[in-house]
Amino acid sequence: MRIAVAGFADETCTFCYVPTDIDRFEPAALRGQAILDANRGIPTYINGYMKVAEAEGVELVPLVYASKTAGGFQSWLTPACFDKYASEIADRLRDAGPLEGVLLALHGAMAATGVPKPEAEIVRRARATVGSIPIMVTLDLHANEDREMADAADAVFVIRTYPHVDYEETGMVAARCMIETIRGNFVPAMAMRRPGIVSASIYQATAVHPMKDVQARCREWQAREPDLYYVSVAPGYAYADVPDIGMSVWAVTNGNQELAERVAQDISDYAWSMRESFARKLPNPRDGVAEVMRLVREGKGPVMIADGADRIGDTTHILRELLEQGAKNWAIPSIVDAEAAKDLEKTASVGDTVTVKIGGWYYEISGRPVEVTGTVEYMGRPSYVLIGPRRRGDRVQDSLSIRLNLGDNRHVVISDEKRGESYDSTVLTSVGVDVSSLDIVALKDRVHHRAYWDAITKVNYPIDAPGIGLADLTQLKYENAPYDAFPIGGKYRG
Ligand SMILES: [Zn+2]
Repeated sequence: MRIAVAGFADETCTFCYVPTDIDRFEPAALRGQAILDANRGIPTYINGYMKVAEAEGVELVPLVYASKTAGGFQSWLTPACFDKYASEIADRLRDAGPLEGVLLALHGAMAATGVPKPEAEIVRRARATVGSIPIMVTLDLHANEDREMADAADAVFVIRTYPHVDYEETGMVAARCMIETIRGNFVPAMAMRRPGIVSASIYQATAVHPMKDVQARCREWQAREPDLYYVSVAPGYAYADVPDIGMSVWAVTNGNQELAERVAQDISDYAWSMRESFARKLPNPRDGVAEVMRLVREGKGPVMIADGADRIGDTTHILRELLEQGAKNWAIPSIVDAEAAKDLEKTASVGDTVTVKIGGWYYEISGRPVEVTGTVEYMGRPSYVLIGPRRRGDRVQDSLSIRLNLGDNRHVVISDEKRGESYDSTVLTSVGVDVSSLDIVALKDRVHHRAYWDAITKVNYPIDAPGIGLADLTQLKYENAPYDAFPIGGKYRG
């Protein structure tokens, strides 16, 4: 049995400005055996495919896997970029020899100029090449998908955790389904529903209401119905202004279409009943930082500030409030300001005291630049291995990063690109910060960091500081969202 494996994944923030071209994908693109080698031992979809395939004595045929390199503010994929990898998947499928099935590791929140539903198009191109053999897809929880994907793929499986810690399990679920289908023991019957909810990522954490309840209902259905193989929910990605934006529910049964429809409808109705919980209001920077400082004074620290709106890495709202309100013992692991960072690299060394204006350069919503004076305590390009549950064992290579100590154990890192991952403490220890000495850490992240940091900090405190990933979606301008998408569609905006 030979099953092809390919992937083309992106989460595209269309409110960013710089088009994404091939040069953002190609440096990290993998082909052939290198795909399996790079994923082995790392908890990814593809490692999940491998685990099942190896246990079942099935051959995987790795073709091409492309996902964007880290960097920050890329927007729509260019037509050439989309076409290159979507075509390459199809071409390599054609040249792969006899195949019994295709596993596609996609994301679901790709936005490509001129291609309204990119992932569905990837599957359709694969289908045009391989014909009627099963094509099964794994998707991120932030996927924006609709009927076109449901029509194109035989089965769709969405990860169930945010922070995302079940890529590998989901890969295993898909691979098992694929192998049993090829063996004739399983007949995938899938239903998809869209409740019509668009939600900010910060409300999608699966350990808390409302997603916790949605996931619990999925598990209840699965415990009750032996024919229900898997039901998963993608709440979607609100920062891609695309026509299939929003939540989707996917139920895969063994040959029971009626059951699949019933389950998907029930989960969809249940999510809709909680729509207001997907659109709450969060504190602004001034009130939020004041409250965090009160928590620290009352001994409820350390506190994690989740500054979730900053896609670019240059917003200064939280930094400004921490300074103006006189907070001590805090760290911000990344303010992106390439000009300031390169300037400091040229003119200063470790041990120097410098005054520099940082951040607030990209977009009006980012806030004004902030002037800081501090001692350079780290300057370099840190390379380190992640220790948190999400990507444990993976190596991160950051670009130029300069840590200033502003006195009173206050630290800010100026970097020339968005620092790769803020998901565990290595982002701070790699530049010499003693994390145990801090009362406040302010990360530019929404939910992923919680998988690690919730065990380190006592309180996780999200603040809706303005930025192009802000929680109050009604402040963003959507052009492609469906009319009836709650709460951003024309129907709800009056
Ligand atoms: Zn995601």
